[in-house]
Amino acid sequence: MNERELLAQGALLLGIELDQKQINQLLRYKELLLEWNQKLNLTAITDDREIITKHFLDCLTVNKATNMKDIKTLIDIGTGAGFPGLVIKIVYPHIDIILVDALNKRLNFLNEVIRELKLEKISCVHSRAEDLGKKEEYREAFDMCASRAVANLAVLSEYTLPFVKQGGYLLALKGQKLDEELEQGSKAIQILGGKLEEIVDATVPFTELNHRIAKIIKVNKTAKKYPRKAGEPTKNPLG
Ligand code: SAM
Repeated sequence: MNERELLAQGALLLGIELDQKQINQLLRYKELLLEWNQKLNLTAITDDREIITKHFLDCLTVNKATNMKDIKTLIDIGTGAGFPGLVIKIVYPHIDIILVDALNKRLNFLNEVIRELKLEKISCVHSRAEDLGKKEEYREAFDMCASRAVANLAVLSEYTLPFVKQGGYLLALKGQKLDEELEQGSKAIQILGGKLEEIVDATVPFTELNHRIAKIIKVNKTAKKYPRKAGEPTKNPLG
């Protein structure tokens, strides 16, 4: 199976039909990732096929947790090299997306991909989540926050839930330690106005990886005092 088939077949297994433009964009994104990775530390995965499976298809497991067609605005906190937010943008171009990361160098890479692929309705913000979450224009402004590999759920909830509208969702792409994280994080989720709605198990096509996606609905507004100042959520997790 060549790379195009790997992408297309893998996406189909997740219920997504990619068109030729999207396949071309994802493959170009992969090339740029490999190129920039020689200078910047963007990813430990450097095999072409593994980038397709363990990054691209991995991010697209979000489709198993929700109907992405209903989402209009999304924020990705701790996006790194664009996972999952930039992959979601390519596959669901109707969504308005903000990518956030505390490391500016990574944003230079993301801006280059956005320019080359001529992506619209997407922007990058260089900030810590705790600082951005205090800004009025970002608070409770998004239908969804999606995040992968940033922090445990107690900390991640404080980073992300302030951005989510009431009735919107946090999708936390997690692994096999989710139950443990939920035990430690459930109080924090509640304090921040969230409620675990569902855990969605999703196999990443053509890999041994199984994601457990925590689908957390925002039921109440987040109190103004959250997020606490930068560094505090990790030092002293809520709950
Ligand atoms: N989400 C990407 C992925 O799955 O490949 C990147 C994961 S990487 C392990 C964690 C990223 O989160 C890093 O790029 C880091 O700079 C960012 N990050 C960690 N804490 C953050 C915070 N408080 N605010 C914003 N970004 C943060």
